[in-house]
Amino acid sequence: MKVYISVDLEGLTGSTSWESTNLGDQEHSAVAEQMKKEAMAAALGAIDAGATEVYIKDAHDSGRNFDITGFPKECRFIRDWTIDPASMIGGIDESFDALLFVGYHSPAGFDGSPLSHTMNRGNNYVKFNGQICSEFLIHALYAAELGVPTVFLSGDKALCSHVQEYDPQIRTVAVKEGIGCATVSITPEEACTQIREQAKEAVLNRDNCHITIPETLTMEINFKEHYKARRASFYPGVIKTGPYTVEYTGKSVKEVAACRMFIL
Ligand SMILES: [Zn+2]
Repeated sequence: MKVYISVDLEGLTGSTSWESTNLGDQEHSAVAEQMKKEAMAAALGAIDAGATEVYIKDAHDSGRNFDITGFPKECRFIRDWTIDPASMIGGIDESFDALLFVGYHSPAGFDGSPLSHTMNRGNNYVKFNGQICSEFLIHALYAAELGVPTVFLSGDKALCSHVQEYDPQIRTVAVKEGIGCATVSITPEEACTQIREQAKEAVLNRDNCHITIPETLTMEINFKEHYKARRASFYPGVIKTGPYTVEYTGKSVKEVAACRMFIL
């Protein structure tokens, strides 16, 4: 059995400031250490459930945040970026049996984390069919189109609630809650214990996980800068609906993800 784990940073236990998200910053190293531990916990949970191949993608910024030594032999690592519409799940294909998200965060438009954003900090929100869209949703739908079910997510509490709205069968672990600029976290050790247990249960439960792919998918982006909406409007099929807003309707998730890759 082959599983894919995408690991971001802003939804890890303890990560709170934008400074801590930058490789090279003083605050980054402790967060990167926790990134490794939570990735390891999810990998061990998947292996407990019978996974024989575990691909782990470092899906934050440089894609080279955490040290890959000490993982079980079943693991493979995807570092840096594959430069294609799969983005934070680059390298995924139909051969995978389950997708897990670790360290994921509230989207732009949510107040669930001081680090709420969607793909970058240049937009006020991304919507799919009129609803606020998260990085989780973009990638879960992309994987669903390949027939790979999303089974697990850890991150902030507001994101976990958002995930449950799309598929209550997805196991979630809320490692922290955002309040204003603050976060209230559980302990890093407790987070890893819960992630390992729930990742195992999630992989075992994979046949019950189904996220519905809408028949037509309309993406709306509200940029923070009006000139970015103007630039995006030159991508074939993109319609500028306001000074800061564009819309694109695709026939597949992959089409929408490709558009997103060029305009956001
Ligand atoms: Zn990130």
